[in-house]
Amino acid sequence: MSYDVTVIGSGPGGYVAAIRAAQLGFKTAIIEKYSTLGGTCLNVGCIPSKALLDSSEHFHNATHTFAKHGIEVKEPKVNLAQMIGRKDQVVKQTCDGIEFLMKKNKIDVFNGLGSFVDKNKIKITKEDGSSEEISTDKTIIATGSKPLIIPGVEYDKKRVITSTEALKMKEIPKHMVVIGGGVIGMELGSVYARMGTKITVIEYLDKIIPGMDGTLSKELQRVLKKGLKFDFNLQTKVVSAKTVGDKVVIKAENKKGEEITFEPDYCLVSIGRKPYTEGLGLENAGVKVDERGRIDVDGHLQTNVPGIYAIGDVVKGAMLAHKAEEEGVFVAETLAGQKPHINYNLIPGVVYTWPEVAGVGFTEEQLKEQGKKYKAGSFPMRALGRARASMDIDGLVKVLADAETDEILGVHMIGPRVADLIAEGVVAMEYRASAEDISRMSHAHPTYTEAMKEACLAATENRAIHV
Ligand SMILES: Cc1cc2nc3c(=O)[nH]c(=O)nc-3n(C[C@H](O)[C@H](O)[C@H](O)COP(=O)(O)OP(=O)(O)OC[C@H]3O[C@@H](n4cnc5c(N)ncnc54)[C@H](O)[C@@H]3O)c2cc1C
Repeated sequence: MSYDVTVIGSGPGGYVAAIRAAQLGFKTAIIEKYSTLGGTCLNVGCIPSKALLDSSEHFHNATHTFAKHGIEVKEPKVNLAQMIGRKDQVVKQTCDGIEFLMKKNKIDVFNGLGSFVDKNKIKITKEDGSSEEISTDKTIIATGSKPLIIPGVEYDKKRVITSTEALKMKEIPKHMVVIGGGVIGMELGSVYARMGTKITVIEYLDKIIPGMDGTLSKELQRVLKKGLKFDFNLQTKVVSAKTVGDKVVIKAENKKGEEITFEPDYCLVSIGRKPYTEGLGLENAGVKVDERGRIDVDGHLQTNVPGIYAIGDVVKGAMLAHKAEEEGVFVAETLAGQKPHINYNLIPGVVYTWPEVAGVGFTEEQLKEQGKKYKAGSFPMRALGRARASMDIDGLVKVLADAETDEILGVHMIGPRVADLIAEGVVAMEYRASAEDISRMSHAHPTYTEAMKEACLAATENRAIHV
């Protein structure tokens, strides 16, 4: 068989690239080594984690806030098998949806490990060991990433686990140490904390969710400590972790250089992910990777080999599903001779804790580092009628605007539903709105969106109405 475009990997980068390529008239194939399509995001990432975050949040509300709302329920209990089963159903429906989209767009799906024979030939090795070869004019590598493990940590998938195992637990841990204070650790830590697990976070840096604006990491740390009793050990370095019987023995060094030991029943390692290129046979096509194992690409996402492109987690940039999707569309349109564009500064980052956290554009730390003159305006969620009605009063919206032109440079939010609200910040910045532009637009009352309008009023001229 011969194709115009072959995509290796069916995550959000790969399947979106394949759909857009097919829409543009290319004869397209997609290769996936697992039996289900959708990659990390659909199978063991975004979707299952959000399903469990929702379920655990319902339980937390039933045990913590229903009574205040005047709803009496007798001792709600977690049925973990049912919760995980529902999550599996959500995953299945979503993956089946991708299969439908492949058929609808007449994309040929090959199940098996794709590896380059040469620049224009790809071998697909199936699970039963049989193989076939296809030829292709252009190839898009979208093979994603795998969890990173630190030396000294004995990852046994039973008690020393990564996010993949944390999404299919058989019991609720009594005490879980989360190594790494990033997005995945805070989200999955929240899932189990809401069901009664004591969560201890060990983070090497001096703050959690380090890529985000400092105000958000401080506020999230405060809320998780107060609400879910998270215990944070910042500036602490894990030296070793190993399962011993039904415990994990973790040795770490605190900021004073003292050795400390933790003995939880589970240890979640969530220190980041690394690009995945194993078995891809990059050397047969002559494709180069950089010093961090990422496939090297130019501004058009083309590798050093003409006709071979790479997108998503396997290349530089934020490891986010929506970034991978944008890149998939970008490459397909480039192949069709179009001139697409991605503004990497406007890829929003989101943490699905409760309250949620979201940010887009420059952080205050980045603006300071650049020596940029800016104005900052904040508005607390607790000042909103909508937030008081739902009892979600933690958090704030912070807008950063250019000191002279008032153009919005960054929007940072922590609060109810800000994962959705951040889209307004993205639209505003994509159209280069000023803080005053947004503050003069009508925002429905009572909604959480009013916090964005008020923060813009605060940023433009310190004239928020409701504080
Ligand atoms: C627990 C967790 C939660 C997350 N939550 C979010 C979130 O809420 N929002 C968000 O934006 N991002 C989230 N992410 C990150 C997101 O999942 C990734 O950024 C995204 O999946 C990257 O997409 P991708 O297409 O580059 O690769 P992937 O989704 O990793 O897909 C790559 C695919 O390629 C296949 N593959 C690899 N090598 C080969 C080969 N040689 N032949 C054939 N197939 C191959 C793999 O099997 C895989 O299916 C989360 C990640 C995790 C782990």
